This record gives sequence, C-alpha cells and structure tokens, in this order.
Amino acid sequence: MYDILIIGAGTAGMACAITAAQQGAKVAVIEKADHIGGALHWSGGHMSAGGTRRQKQLGIEDSPEKHLADIFRINDSTGDLTLTKMAVYEAPKTIDWLEDLGFDFAPECPRIIYGHVPYTEARTHYGTNKALSIYKVLRPLWDKQVEEGNIDLFLETTLTALRKNEGRFNEAVTNKQSFFGKYIVLTTGGYGSNPAYFNAKHPNTPLMSSSYPTATGDGHQIIEDLGGVFEYGKFHLPSLGGVELEEGRCNFNEAWAMVLTSIYRPAREIYVNKHGKRFMNENEPNADTRERIVVQQPDWKFWIIFDETALLERNAGGAENSIMIGWDTDKIKAVAKEEKFIWQASSIEELCTKAGLPYLTTKKTIDTFNEACDNKIDTEFGRTQLNHKIQTAHYYALLVHASVLVTFGGMKVNEQLQIVDKQGEVMQGLYAAGELLGLGATSGSAFCSGMAITPALSFGRILGKKLSTKING
Ligand SMILES: Cc1cc2nc3c(=O)[nH]c(=O)nc-3n(C[C@H](O)[C@H](O)[C@H](O)COP(=O)(O)OP(=O)(O)OC[C@H]3O[C@@H](n4cnc5c(N)ncnc54)[C@H](O)[C@@H]3O)c2cc1C
Repeated sequence: MYDILIIGAGTAGMACAITAAQQGAKVAVIEKADHIGGALHWSGGHMSAGGTRRQKQLGIEDSPEKHLADIFRINDSTGDLTLTKMAVYEAPKTIDWLEDLGFDFAPECPRIIYGHVPYTEARTHYGTNKALSIYKVLRPLWDKQVEEGNIDLFLETTLTALRKNEGRFNEAVTNKQSFFGKYIVLTTGGYGSNPAYFNAKHPNTPLMSSSYPTATGDGHQIIEDLGGVFEYGKFHLPSLGGVELEEGRCNFNEAWAMVLTSIYRPAREIYVNKHGKRFMNENEPNADTRERIVVQQPDWKFWIIFDETALLERNAGGAENSIMIGWDTDKIKAVAKEEKFIWQASSIEELCTKAGLPYLTTKKTIDTFNEACDNKIDTEFGRTQLNHKIQTAHYYALLVHASVLVTFGGMKVNEQLQIVDKQGEVMQGLYAAGELLGLGATSGSAFCSGMAITPALSFGRILGKKLSTKING
C-alpha cells in the first residue's frame, strides 16, 4: 500500500508527487504515456500571480487581492469563487518557489498579455522556453525523489477504473495491475484530444484540437461513471489562430496565425467566413470579443485574405508582425505551394477556386473593403486600420480555426480538492488537481491569463503537502 497514488505525471501530478515525496510520503505515479511532463511539453507556460518577489523587485505593486478582483472583472465572477481565491493566494508562492529552483524568467516578464483580456497589472510570468522552462526546474527534483525511492514511476500504465474498499477509494485499476494507496490524486488533464467525449459534452460544437495528445478525459469519464459532477462545460471557448495540420488537429507551437488580438500585429488583411463575407473589425484589440464573434461564424472558422504587399510587410515589422507566428515570408510562400491551408493565386477568382470560397461574394467583399480604404471609413465594422487595400498580386487565403488548447469543463471538487458526487458527498480518498477541474473552475467563463497552469502547479503542491502531512502528522 502506497501513501499516495498520483494518476498522471503532468503539470499538477509532477508538482504533487515532488512535494509529497519531499515531505516523506511514499508515492506511486501512474502515467499512461511513455514520458512524464504532460502538457508542459507543449504549453505556452504563461503563469499569472499577483504579489511575487519578482514583481516587487521590479517595482510592480500587486497582490492576490488585486489579481482576484481582476479575474472577477474579466469573467464576471463566474468561476468557482473558493478555488479561484485559493489559486490566486497560492500563485505568488508557486512563482517564488520556481524562482528558488532557478527558473529562467524571460527578461521582459512579468508582462501584461493581450492574447487574453489584459489584466490591469504586469503579472504574467514565463520562462525563456515556454512551459519547458517549468519542466526544466521540476525534472531534477523529480529525478532525485525517484532515485531515493520516494517516487515509484509506472510509465505506459493507464488508469481504467477506481475501486472502493471498506468505504474508501484506495484502488487504482490499470491496464497492467491494480495499485493501492491511502489517498488517490487524479491529475489526468483535460479532454480536448478526445473527440467523442468532447462531442458528448459540447454537442454541435466544432472541435479543432490543439490540446496535448494525452488530454483524453480519462479521469473525467472514470469519475463521472462513479457519480461525479461535470461542470463549467457551458463556458467552453476556443482560442483563435489554429490551422489544420492534420485532420481535426492544429498545433500551437508549429503553425498558429497571429489573430488573437490586433495589439501585437495591426491588421493588414480581411477575414471572411465561408460565405465570403466579412464579419468583424479585424483591428478589434479585445481577444475575448474576437473569440466570441468567431464562434458565431459557420464551423467556427474563417479565411484571412491578404495580398503580396501585406505579406512582404512582415519583414519590415519583425517577428511579431508576421501573419503566422514565427514564420517568415519564404515559409509562408513555400507552404502555400502545398495548398493545404494557405493558398496563393494571381487573381481573386483563382484564389477563391483554390480556397473553396464563393467568388462573387468574396470579390464584392474585397471591393467594398478597398472602397473603405479609399474613403478612410469602414461603415460596416468600424475598422480604423485602413491602409492596406487588397490589390497587389499574389493574393493569399489562410484558413484559420477557433481551436481548443485547454478545456473548460471539469469535475467538481470541494475546497479541500476532494472529489464530490452528485449528492454533494465527498468520494472518500479521491482528490483532483489540474485541468481535470476544468479551466472554468479557476478562469470562469473567459480566458484569464495563466489561470490553467498556475493553479495546476499550486493545487498539486497544496495536495502534496496536505496529504503527506495527513500521513506523517
Ligand atoms: C499549446 C498549449 C498552450 C497552453 N498555454 C498555456 C498558458 O500559457 N498558460 C496557462 O495557464 N495554460 C496554458 N495551457 C494549459 C495548461 O498548460 C494545462 O491546462 C496544464 O498544463 C494541464 O496540467 P495537468 O497536470 O492538468 O495535465 P497534463 O499536464 O496534461 O498532465 C496529465 C497527465 O495525465 C496523464 N494521463 C491522462 N490519462 C491517464 C490515465 N488514464 N492513466 C494514467 N495517466 C493518464 C497524461 O498522459 C499526462 O501526462 C496550454 C495548453 C496547451 C496545450
């Protein structure tokens, strides 16, 4: 019998296992992949916290109270108020902990991030290598605990069921064997990579996934089968910029259009839906507004239409000015030759044929937009950036999807992070942390910067401490 069984060696699971093992608990970690780290391998690693040591050193006056107020402003107090409060009060301790471990903060952070509704203070912290910077400082601690025999790691071992013995959940059934533990912590991540489960939870909602491949909702399904409560699914909101690299999937790190906000890249293109019609002010700065307009378009997708002048301007504007994040002009032209999600043509008619857009409507849309540029007024959508007529061949169309990085729905827990059932009863022995709780728990009905990964680390640490204390007194 282990002291603690942790299911999933990702962001929350690693933080939990390290903390518990450091405090003397004997831990088994069950991980279905052949590696540890979970979404840390892909995540942007933006962590928000108010009142960190780093902020103080840089003269930024911030606090958990201010962070909390900002979150409630952004999401209209729609998350789990207790969990959100817990998350923001723990957040500065988590960031200071990472700093103590030698975390390689990007020199410009903390910053206000505009890819989500901006906070009022610079409180988004991140490393020089996205979430891999977090992995880099956690990995040596992990290895030490494994070497010292405090963590037993079982890779390629998939949790399939949980069983109760003598009134408590203490048995984790896997594809290989059963494991027994005094406490079981589920940190299995989200469900964005499981189309069947996603569709069951979000009927009539297109799924274009950029979630980590192991985010298959295993924990959600197992807990639901035991009577657990799935909540916050109604808050589902995707992120803008995905391009379909393989059927049904995008990849935030490989190919992502710069369309989350116009703050980082002024608009020099138009967006059209599948009817060839514009539907928004392309220089709308608010990421949340943009996302909510796009999900009203058919199939939650749109085409960016631009011309050669707009493409070439990227080189003058630097990396952040590119239409695709991190791509230079040559790469965009080369990929356009593949005719998968970017198309290039010498006329608008040819472009529409290639991209599958209706020519007459699209041509009319472009003509109307060009007139708006001439007249310096966009009477349809109120766009103010009107110095890029679409008039110089080649012409380009880039198909962009609203894509899922992280899932909002999750399993209900109480303030002790114990999983509760539909009757409000605690499922004795079962705890959860991370995206399994749903982004909606700590970020509510909107994306609040860093409110997935910071709570995952913080709640993992809280449980590691709490459960090891229960064991060792
Ligand atoms: C591209 C991308 C960018 C992101 N950027 C940000 C950001 O900047 N800021 C932010 O706050 N959030 C961001 N997120 C979200 C955030 O990274 C995740 O929500 C968080 O890391 C999830 O942590 P977790 O521990 O819950 O899950 P994970 O890190 O995904 O770990 C779950 C682990 O459980 C394992 N597992 C699953 N099922 C089983 C099973 N049945 N048996 C055994 N093991 C199992 C998985 O293999 C995995 O290792 C991003 C996500 C993505 C994909």
